[in-house]
Amino acid sequence: MQTLTVRLKLHRPTLAKQRLYRELTSRTTALANSLVAAGRPRGLTSKTAKHYAPAPMPAVVVCQALRDVAAARRVGRFRVLPPCFNNQSLRLAKTGGFWTASFPTHIGRVRVPVAATERQTTILSQLGPAVKQGAAKLYEQRGRWYLALSITVKPAPRAGAKMVGIDLGLRNLAVANCEGETLFFSGDQAAYVRRRMANLRRRMGRAKAPRAIKRMKDKEQRWMRNLDHRISKAVVDWCLARGVGTIRMEDLEGIRLRRRRDRRDRGRSLHNWSFHRLQSFIAYKANLAGIKVEWAVPTNTSRVCPACGSRAKENRSGIRFRCKTCGHCGHADAIAALNISKAISGLAAA
Ligand SMILES: [Zn+2]
Repeated sequence: MQTLTVRLKLHRPTLAKQRLYRELTSRTTALANSLVAAGRPRGLTSKTAKHYAPAPMPAVVVCQALRDVAAARRVGRFRVLPPCFNNQSLRLAKTGGFWTASFPTHIGRVRVPVAATERQTTILSQLGPAVKQGAAKLYEQRGRWYLALSITVKPAPRAGAKMVGIDLGLRNLAVANCEGETLFFSGDQAAYVRRRMANLRRRMGRAKAPRAIKRMKDKEQRWMRNLDHRISKAVVDWCLARGVGTIRMEDLEGIRLRRRRDRRDRGRSLHNWSFHRLQSFIAYKANLAGIKVEWAVPTNTSRVCPACGSRAKENRSGIRFRCKTCGHCGHADAIAALNISKAISGLAAA
């Protein structure tokens, strides 16, 4: 099961609509804060909880706010709690070439157009039993309004028997290995873009331009995110063309928790956040395509010889892998990907 959030931008809400959304947000926030102030009373329903709201609110929004307050046990005061709609109250529909969202507010249901990207349109048109719509939050960010829609993709295993391992790194962002056949995504371009952006930011820093710097950071983030989308799509297409049934990736969550790491892992843990996104994009697209995803324990994947099975730290030097025992040679990242496909240290608990 793979969960992801789709951020749908509402298409140019009128000032009246924006006022409506803001009012609903402030009522939701006030409800949450008065629940906290009342000591988080238990056993409330949407009917009994609405007495804590300063003004009328839709029952579903009250219900979701109750859940949000219960989940954020440590929050003493909510600065903003966005109104949230469950999958029954938020309705998405395609009318003509446009997607619209409709949801309840304190003055009744509204239907608004959504500015969905091509990628989002593909996801929205797949909504159904295999791609499930979850809850959605309505929020504002820098003058624009969005619905953060959570979506769950149910994996549908395909008949394909082949196994692919994917190694992630900085030199090569991703290396896929399917029984010896490899696919590389160099990290050079990403490194170049990040260096160039960092230089620009440094220069702007001297000119004291915090807003411009923020814009630059956002731009870099969008660029990286788009790159992750491109890589994950290419990986999954490559797997589909080869009749792959299972993709294996390293369980990096495990690395973060482990104290002792080898050097390679330590270098990567700094960037785990971005690997996590690339992994989740690959996993989600693979699930949509009917490819199973498994998580391998990352220990020793760069040290074990795939030919003779001997393990030595010295087997690897930089991008070269050369087995000290049998002399087997290869590209270090490709060999790591092969070892991941074999899950040489076992599979992580799902
Ligand atoms: Zn060997």
